Amino acid sequence: MLFRTLAEHYSELESVSSRLKMMEILSSLFKITGKEEIKFVIYITQGILLPPFEGLEFGVAEKIMEDAISLATGYERDVIENSYNKSGDLGIVAFDFKSKTKLKRMLDNGYSVSDVYNKMYKIANTNGPGSKDLKIKMIAELIASSTDLEAKYITRYVLGELRLGVGDYTILEALSLAYVGNREEKQSLEYAYNLCSDMGEVGECLAKNGIESIKKFDVSLFKPLRPELAERLPTAEEIIERMGGVCSVEQKYDGFRCQIHKSNNKVKIYSRNLEETTNMFPDLKEAVITDIKSDTIIFEGEALAFNDVTNEFLPFQETIQRKRKHDIKEKSMELPLHLFAFDIIYLNGHSLINEPYSKRRSIIEKLLNTKTITPTKRILTSSPKEFELFFDKSIEDGLEGIVAKDLKSTYVAGARKFSWIKMKRSYKGILSDTLDLVIIGYFLGRGSRAEFKFGGLLCAVYNKERDIFESISKIGTGFTEDNMRMFSSLLGKIKSANKPARVDSIVVPDFWVEPRYVITVRADEITKSPTHTCGKSKNASGLEIGYALRFPRIIENSNIRTDKNAEDATTTSEVIEMYNNQKKISSK
Ligand code: ATP
Repeated sequence: MLFRTLAEHYSELESVSSRLKMMEILSSLFKITGKEEIKFVIYITQGILLPPFEGLEFGVAEKIMEDAISLATGYERDVIENSYNKSGDLGIVAFDFKSKTKLKRMLDNGYSVSDVYNKMYKIANTNGPGSKDLKIKMIAELIASSTDLEAKYITRYVLGELRLGVGDYTILEALSLAYVGNREEKQSLEYAYNLCSDMGEVGECLAKNGIESIKKFDVSLFKPLRPELAERLPTAEEIIERMGGVCSVEQKYDGFRCQIHKSNNKVKIYSRNLEETTNMFPDLKEAVITDIKSDTIIFEGEALAFNDVTNEFLPFQETIQRKRKHDIKEKSMELPLHLFAFDIIYLNGHSLINEPYSKRRSIIEKLLNTKTITPTKRILTSSPKEFELFFDKSIEDGLEGIVAKDLKSTYVAGARKFSWIKMKRSYKGILSDTLDLVIIGYFLGRGSRAEFKFGGLLCAVYNKERDIFESISKIGTGFTEDNMRMFSSLLGKIKSANKPARVDSIVVPDFWVEPRYVITVRADEITKSPTHTCGKSKNASGLEIGYALRFPRIIENSNIRTDKNAEDATTTSEVIEMYNNQKKISSK
């Protein structure tokens, strides 16, 4: 397929705002895509070269892109930069300057999707001395020999910001419509996607082998699964009742979730949002190679930095400091890690995903019990009293709470179901759980905050059914001066001239931003509100009412949650559930 055809579809996608319409446009695009190119079309639509766990990025900053557009069109770098400062979108800049190029128009090369993808792949793999200039030259050549519209999307693709407003679930639905003829197989496709986290692979398998092979999809090594997540319930009685009697009540550690894949001496460690983070954990990698006696294995656990002098576990923020790559060695000496294993998914060539939790746990106890790696502490109980005692003891030990597990349940990849239920410490009058919110805009500072050019955030939750971000709160409290500087600089780079396509908000911030960054927020209460669009529905008098946060503040020392993508934020249905749980507690 010509890349031009792809660009035309993208342009059409940008002109509509209804999700259904977007899905139909995508579906008609997939219908005319050949089996050999479907993978590329999906990756490009997602704005990636390969799934994030492969760790391949373009490595092209805006400045490089400005140089490339200048070289491809004959305009000075300053002129390009000024235009970018005005529009905030280098894709539009590339389009405009291409259409009035000062250089002789090159013959249109009629690039195919594969041509463009392969060139991009080469650009991303260009490293080492002199690579910056080489990248500028390669991108400039590509832009110079493309149409104006192609140049727009090539530019945005290289910068990882296609701005199409299409989320993963819309792509899955469009695949179902294109290849099965209806949207009903979206769930089977989602299941396969949850097992391999590679939408390109799912699309290619569907196009080449049909829906029946999608239904037979299984786990494979070095393809991280999308993680199982926990539901919430407010009391021990409700959790035990929901689990149908005896359940496993495990301590909930506030560390760094690790999904570990091992095949003989090859080990890879993936984060909660499925990026490869093996380099952050050299000591853990070593322990897996030397201590775990199995040829192949996939298992999960929570890694925590451990202070062996005070016998204290250090929380998430301190564990994550290891991300600073340069001093990882020193950090691992200073703060040895301990991994609490809580699930096993694959062992010696066999998937365990459909085995009941009780069986998976007994394997964990036998196999994952070493100096560095131990099973999570837990009790088996059907007594609310015993449950609460264990919960209180965990809080006393400085932990977050507990996660109860249904002994009969399979591993449910990528889903928040009642087979895992969490209960966290509650503060008087304060919501027991924090929320992870996506930043969709920000406000300029006034008064003493004017110097930071930052006064607060507009935040949203993720509505999975609508595949969009719904506003829930403005946040103006809890920021340190460093926080404000960091937000102002980070968000300034992803400003959007208009409300981004996947954002639903009545509140208008000073600046919109692409929904990308997640922060953790504490609030006193969830309230009903006409101001925010989260979970909005018409009330008895026909007024649209959504949900909002009372006294929201960013949690102390909080930073961007680099382990979460925008779609990993708290969802609309979780907010509604938290609201209902809160009502139950206050009526007790
Ligand atoms: P949170 O911010 O509460 O950790 P989350 O959205 O990351 O929320 P949840 O589904 O709410 O995830 O809770 C499960 C998380 O708790 C897991 O992702 C894991 O990192 C952590 N965890 C700690 N101890 C356990 C345990 N014993 N079993 C399962 N998960 C655990």
